[in-house]
Amino acid sequence: MPPVKDQAIVLRHLDYSETSQVLACLTREHGSRRFIAKGIKRATKNKAATIIDLLEQGEVVFLVRPQSESELSILTEWRQVDAHLGLRSNLHTWYAAQYAAEITSTMTEEADPHPELFDALAALLQNLASGAAALPAVVDYQCTLLLAAGVWPDLTRCVVCDRPAPPGRAAFYAPIQGGLVCRNCEPTVPGRHYVRAANLDALRSRQFDSASAAALFELLDETLTAVSGRPSSLAKWVMRKEL
Ligand SMILES: [Zn+2]
Repeated sequence: MPPVKDQAIVLRHLDYSETSQVLACLTREHGSRRFIAKGIKRATKNKAATIIDLLEQGEVVFLVRPQSESELSILTEWRQVDAHLGLRSNLHTWYAAQYAAEITSTMTEEADPHPELFDALAALLQNLASGAAALPAVVDYQCTLLLAAGVWPDLTRCVVCDRPAPPGRAAFYAPIQGGLVCRNCEPTVPGRHYVRAANLDALRSRQFDSASAAALFELLDETLTAVSGRPSSLAKWVMRKEL
């Protein structure tokens, strides 16, 4: 069981016994991983007690137990790279970052690496921590997740009858069907939403401002829920901008 080195971002954490922590992380090269950090909260002569926090990024060394890929891996080293403390300066930013962690957890498989997703999450957390507008950044990250999972919605045609859906026109969007629906087919498709041309074009080009991000956030969240089967508990807080 040779030690494995990687970078990791903490998506969920819980205390385990007086001295240990269990962490669910996204690693750059090894996909989602669950670690047990034994004794990490215990201070010794040579090291202070450590608590690894939600959404921290660090360099990790871990041991994979040979029996099963899905068991907890043993974390042997954690070197903090960025605690992203700026995320906590504003409640809306903090919810947006936690939402990103939540959808990353539900959309990724254990040990299925997506380095581009890790890089996008690291960039998102840095941007949010330095005060970037939360909603456009989070909507762009929803897009990255859909692409990484191979379930990017079809924005080129009606998913029922194949009629082309050119840019510059409004259309209906159906999260469960994963794409656009034309005016003729729309009455037969439950859960579809009318989307203005400008917002659809923003989605095609992934160029979001506050208005298009506000219009698209819930549609993309519904798409992620349709794919993962698990609704986000935090989406409603991301939409509440008055926080
Ligand atoms: Zn149609």
